[in-house]
Amino acid sequence: MISRQNDPQPTDLGDVRVANRAVVLRHVRVHAPCSRADIAAHTGLNKATVSSLVAELIDRRLLRETGLTEHRVGRPATMLVLDGEPYAALGLEIGVDELVAVAIDLGGNRLLTWRRAFPAPSSPPEETVRALAALARRAVARVTGQGRAVLGLTVGVPGLVDTAGCVPLSPALGWRDVPLAAALRAALGDPEFTVTADNEANLAALAEQRHGAHAGAANLVHLTGGAGIGAGVIADGRLLRGGRGFAGEIGHLTLDPAGPVCACGQAGCLEALTGLPAVVRRLLPDTAEDGPVTDFLPELDRIRALAGQDDPTVRAGLAEIGRHLGHGVALLANLVDPEAVLVGGHYAALGPWLLPAARAELAARTLTSQAGGCRLEASNLGGAATALGGATAALATVESGRLPTR
Ligand SMILES: [Zn+2]
Repeated sequence: MISRQNDPQPTDLGDVRVANRAVVLRHVRVHAPCSRADIAAHTGLNKATVSSLVAELIDRRLLRETGLTEHRVGRPATMLVLDGEPYAALGLEIGVDELVAVAIDLGGNRLLTWRRAFPAPSSPPEETVRALAALARRAVARVTGQGRAVLGLTVGVPGLVDTAGCVPLSPALGWRDVPLAAALRAALGDPEFTVTADNEANLAALAEQRHGAHAGAANLVHLTGGAGIGAGVIADGRLLRGGRGFAGEIGHLTLDPAGPVCACGQAGCLEALTGLPAVVRRLLPDTAEDGPVTDFLPELDRIRALAGQDDPTVRAGLAEIGRHLGHGVALLANLVDPEAVLVGGHYAALGPWLLPAARAELAARTLTSQAGGCRLEASNLGGAATALGGATAALATVESGRLPTR
C-alpha cells in the first residue's frame, strides 16, 4: 500500500531501522547488482549501518550475494541482488466476466498468471468471493508447493474501495457495501499473510509504475478498459487516492448528457459510452438476442475480426467510441498533466482502431499544443495489469522495510 501520510511522523529507533531497510531494498531493486559500498555512497547511510542491514536482509533471504565482483580502484566488492526465491506475493482481480490471479516473487518475476471466466455481475457477492477464494487457494498451494512463503494478497475490483477493503459501491458488479477483504480473509481461513482490496485502476497504475512501458515515470495514468472504467493516477511518484480512497472515478464523468443511461443511474458517462458492454451493444446489436453477455472475450474477438476486415459500420463505430475515449483522456490530461496515459482492457485490444481517433480528440481538447507531449498508448501489461498491480501492492509491507515473519 502506498503511504497516505505526507506529514512528518515521530520515529523511534525501531522505525529508523525499518525505514533504512526500505532504503536499502529500494536501492538494490533499482540498481542491482550493487555493492555495499555503492549503497552507502548513494543512500547516505554509513557503511557500518549498511553492512548490518544487509546482513539481516541476507539472513531473511530478501537479498543475496551474487558472487560477482566489480573490479575498480581498491578491493573487489561482492555484489548484491534481490533474492526473490523464498517469497511470493499474490494479486487477484474480479472483472466483469473473469477472475484473474497473478503471483510474483520479490524481484517482480511472474510465477503464475491464471484467468477463469466468471459472471460476477449475475452472481451474488458471496458466490463471487467463494470462487475467488478457491482460485486464491490454488495459487497459494502452487507457490507454497515451490517452497515459497506468501507475503500478501491484494484483490482489485471495478468500484469504490475504502481503506478497510470494503466496497461501498461497484456499478459494474452491481455491488453495494460488500466487505470484500474481510470476507476473502475469512474464506481463506484467516491466513498469516495480509489480505487487502483496492480499486482495479489504482492497482493497474501501480503495475504500470513498476512493470509497464513507462515504468519509473513520476506522472502517469492507467485507464482501465472493461465494464468499469476508472483511472489510476500516479502523481509526483505517488498513487493519488483522495480523501477516502475514491479518486479516479472518471468512468462516471458525464461526457454527453443526452447519451445512454449508465449503470450508475446518470446518463452519458464515459463508461456508458465506451465501457465494454456499451461497445458490444453498439457494435454487435445481435448479441443481446441470446440473453445477457457473460463472457466478453469472444465478442471482442468478433469486433476485432470485423474491424480487421474493414467492416464500415464497425470501423465508424470504433472511431466514434475512440473520440469519446479521447475526450475523457483530455479531461484527465488537463487535470493531472501526466507524461503518459496507458489504456488497458478492451481499449488496448481495440487500440489500433480506437487510439487514432482518441489521440486526435486528446490533442484537440487539451490546452497545450499536442497535449503537452502526453502519450496515449495501449498498455503492454495485457489483461492481468490489475492482478499484477495487486501482487506488486502485496509486496509493500516488505518493501517498506518490515521483515516477513519466519
Ligand atoms: Zn455512470
